[in-house]
Order: sequence, then structure tokens, then C-alpha cells
Amino acid sequence: MTLGEAQHLLGLTAGASELDIKRAFRRLAMKWHPDRNNAPESAETFRRLRAAHDSLLGYRSGDREQRDDESATGRSDAEDSADDGAGRNSARAPDREIDLEISVEEAYLGCIRSVRVEEARPCPDCDGLGSKPSPRGHLCVDCHGSGRLRVAGGLKPCEACDGKGYRYRVTCPCCDGLGRAIAAREVEVVIPGGSREADVLCVEGEGATADGLANGDLLITVRVAPHPLYRVVGNDLVLERPVGALRMLLGGRIRIPHPRGDFVLALEAGPAASREWCIRGEGWPARGEVEAGDLRIRLEPVMPRELDPSLRDILAPIADLIDKRAAQFEPEVHAWESRWLP
Ligand SMILES: [Zn+2]
Ligand SMILES: [Zn+2]
Repeated sequence: MTLGEAQHLLGLTAGASELDIKRAFRRLAMKWHPDRNNAPESAETFRRLRAAHDSLLGYRSGDREQRDDESATGRSDAEDSADDGAGRNSARAPDREIDLEISVEEAYLGCIRSVRVEEARPCPDCDGLGSKPSPRGHLCVDCHGSGRLRVAGGLKPCEACDGKGYRYRVTCPCCDGLGRAIAAREVEVVIPGGSREADVLCVEGEGATADGLANGDLLITVRVAPHPLYRVVGNDLVLERPVGALRMLLGGRIRIPHPRGDFVLALEAGPAASREWCIRGEGWPARGEVEAGDLRIRLEPVMPRELDPSLRDILAPIADLIDKRAAQFEPEVHAWESRWLP
């Protein structure tokens, strides 16, 4: 049902408030409810009115905000896989789609998360009618007891009370006359290790429910939250690590963090300059045909900001030595001095 059809059905115009929608539905539901209306089309009309009410108030199952291209791809994958489930699609309530944000560590290692699923169901107190029988008559609020309503060109009988001026039903206090109650349940979702952004997980039977139909499925789109340290680039896991410039020159053992737990890397002696260290196969785990990614560590040299007297005494003779052999150790300094200070 389109938004326009829903509005038309409830006799509303675009931009109707939530209260307008509820009022219009309540008024029409009183008229068309099969318990009150013997016309053969009443049940179908009532069902359509409720669907219109639900869709205008955003109770639709599968309701979600506009998604980016990436996740739309993920969704179609999931729908394809849901369709081929031995014809389960033939008589099922709609699927429900939600996004679930997890950390890089949770995506890498896998985790179990509890997801709250809310669904509008017929109110148990009034059986979804929105009103309950009352032994006493109540003055009709629409026509104030007159049984008639003023319209352009005169008066017409009040539909809400069938022109009687009194109603023998009261608004259900449980659902405030909506006939709908929000039922919430917790669904446990197992996210496998090596999950990736925009992966779609399917929890069978946890989608929307409807009388006489098998439950829809719950489709969960994985969202990997930005991480202050790790970036996932394709299949690779990328991180930056500051390292002392002297350590980079001398080589040695440095600790490296990893979602699986940190480990010690034997760094070879090399230039004290930004460089990338790549460890094959230590990135995102392999999956199906896709090989495991690499762990790429961007090493950034850091010079000591200041020296205290003890370090100054040790480093001074080293600096003198490097100055003397600048052509070898600091060619840029040597070239500059040769040109401007010959
Ligand atoms: Zn109710
Ligand atoms: Zn009335």
C-alpha cells in the first residue's frame, strides 16, 4: 500500500498529524469492524484500514531508513538466499530488516548479541478493536449526543454512533483506541568470526508475524563501527604505530596489537623513516574463496622530544661522530653544508 493510498483510505491529506491518523482510523474502524458491520466487504475493509493506519504511523515491518548502495547490495543477497529456502517464501509474513553495529574486535572474533525487536500486534485487551463494550451508553464525543454532524450544505448522521448520539463501546484504555500494542522481544544473534561490513545475517522466523502465515525472517545488516586504532581496508587490517627513531635504526622487538591479542614483532634494523610493515595472512580471516588479508603496520618514527643530562652525556659523542661522517650518515646535511658553507 502506498502512502497516498493509505491517506486516501483514511480520508486524510498529506501531512496529517499522528492524532489525525489515529482519529480517522478510530472513526472508520467503528464503522467497518466486522463485529459491527454485516456487509460482506467489512472484514477486508477493516484489514485495509488497519494496514493504512499502521503504514502511516511507521509500524510497517521492514521499515527502515534509506540505505546506502553498499548495504542495498547486502540486502539483495539476503533476499536471494531467503527466497531459495524450499519455497518458504510462499506464505510468510514480511521479513524485518535491522542494522546492528559491532566493534572491529567483535566482527573479527565473532560474538553473540541480543537484539530487541518491536512489533505492533493486535491489543490483547480489546482483541485489536480499539474499543470495548460498555453496559452504559456514553455521550458520543463526535456529535455531542445530537446524532448528527454539521457538514457543508447541512447535517448528516453521525457515523461514530450510527446517529444514536450515544455509544455503547468505550475506548480501550490499554491501547488508547489504536487496537495495536507494541510487543518487544529479545532475539539472540550469533555473529560469526570474520564478519564484514554490510554482511547480512538471517535469523529465521524472527521477522514480522501475521495470523495464518509463517513468520518472516529477521535480516541483520552488520555495521562495523569506526575504530580508533584499526582500519579494515578490503581484506587487510591496517594500523599505525609510533616507534622510537633509534629503535627503528637499531631494530629490536616491539609489541603489536591485534584483535586476537597482541604479539611481539622482531623489527629489523632499517631507516628511521615512515614505513609499512606487512605481515601476510594476519589481516581479516579467509572466507570461502577469499584468502585471508594482510596485517599492515604503518611505523612512524618518533625522536625524543628532550634529553635529560644522563642521556645528553651519552648521546653527545655520538652526535659528534655523526657530524664528522655526515656524508655517510646524513647525506642531506652534508650536501647542504657543502653548498652553502664551503
Ligand atoms: Zn486495546
Ligand atoms: Zn455521534
